[in-house]
Amino acid sequence: MSAHLLGDDPGSMTTTELPAYAPVPESSTAPAVNEHGYYVGRVEKNLYWVTDGGYQAAFLTTPDGVVLFDAPPSIGHNLQRAIDEIAVANDVPNTVTHLVYSHHHADHIGASSLFGADVVRIGHAETKRLLLRADDPARPAPDVTFDTKYTLQVGGETINLAWLGSNHTPDNIYIHLPDHKTLILIDVVIPGWASFAAFNVNSDVPGSIAAPDRALDFPWKHFIGGHLGRLGTREDLALHQQYLADIVANVRIALATVDPMPFYAKYGNNTWAAVKGYLDTASAQAAAPVVEKYAGVLGAADVFITSTVFAILESMRLDLGEGLFLHP
Ligand SMILES: [Zn+2]
Repeated sequence: MSAHLLGDDPGSMTTTELPAYAPVPESSTAPAVNEHGYYVGRVEKNLYWVTDGGYQAAFLTTPDGVVLFDAPPSIGHNLQRAIDEIAVANDVPNTVTHLVYSHHHADHIGASSLFGADVVRIGHAETKRLLLRADDPARPAPDVTFDTKYTLQVGGETINLAWLGSNHTPDNIYIHLPDHKTLILIDVVIPGWASFAAFNVNSDVPGSIAAPDRALDFPWKHFIGGHLGRLGTREDLALHQQYLADIVANVRIALATVDPMPFYAKYGNNTWAAVKGYLDTASAQAAAPVVEKYAGVLGAADVFITSTVFAILESMRLDLGEGLFLHP
């Protein structure tokens, strides 16, 4: 980038001028990665998880080959390195024969093509439709699709796939490994952390708020959420539910108490400016007590909170009809 695009003095921004945030709880941080940039660990029996500290994938070794769950491009070729490491240690096959897609997003399956044309790709019917639309060679469309339920059996192992309504995306599925006491549900709950921007950029906010309830209906002990430091527990999902309940309660108070009239009085015919002033003020009011309660409890409780509160506030207005003004 040329200097003039950065302004007159491109060196003027220093780290001391960047915003400071509450420390991340020690329990939320990722395990150290190796010299290749990944960490691989056992979840339960022959189920493993692999992370680069930002993204998570998982794989199951079987006598007939490896079942891989997602292929984030940020982990990329380290997926096979992690599988090779475990396969050598346990004297089991290292060939990925099946690749299960959690949902269509490129940041979770954009390394799919690394596993070649012979891998059996399994995903929701909507995942196939969205991938055909994207026409991205890095993400071949699934060969095997399902609408509500599918049981994948490989090498004597059972993997139950379920679609229980839209949440983060229209196609996001619940991947349950009953014999490994594990549930994989990506981009809904990030154990130990507050949500990513705009409530995980969820396309369906009410569906995403309800998804942890669906997740807890399954019997499991280990949870794989797809991002950041660690595996999750049932307590992590309960904490996330409380966090969302607190946001909803504070948004409801803000919608009932913030007066929009001063914003319209100030901005006159600039309606968007008035609406922005009102929504920003309501979001900030709702966010403040949530930040105070969760700083030091969830990582980054104070980082994306305003956009997450705004996403939930707008959904409460538009999806639920709360806080709208009825002309007298
Ligand atoms: Zn996603």
